[in-house]
Amino acid sequence: MSTIFEKIISGEIPAEILQQDELCLVIRDIDPQSPTHLLVIPKKVIPRIGNAQKEDQATLGHLLLVAAEVAEKEKLEAGYRIVINNGSDGGETVPHLHVHVLGGRPMKWPPG
Ligand code: 5GP
Repeated sequence: MSTIFEKIISGEIPAEILQQDELCLVIRDIDPQSPTHLLVIPKKVIPRIGNAQKEDQATLGHLLLVAAEVAEKEKLEAGYRIVINNGSDGGETVPHLHVHVLGGRPMKWPPG
């Protein structure tokens, strides 16, 4: 069964896409955990970082570069946090790899 992100990538479910290229797209999280909360989602279905393969190396690097690029576009010059949740203890709820970009407020450490 395809995930919500696959449906957004295929256009089956409409979404405001902030930017996209051949490897990924960027959307706003529907349930933002900070004033700015973006998701960088690879178009290739990789369930989670723990399932990524050597052949995904370029895509994974690209996701991080795009995350930094959109953080700059969103003017998060005071800082931001990049998060990848993996598995149930990691807080993963959608089994399609995605990078969270959170900003617009100071973050706490350790994370919850
Ligand atoms: P995870 O918990 O797997 O790391 O992150 C999944 C994220 O996807 C959550 O932050 C959740 O709010 C977001 N999300 C779930 N469904 C949708 C949706 O339909 N549209 C958007 N834009 N975000 C979604």
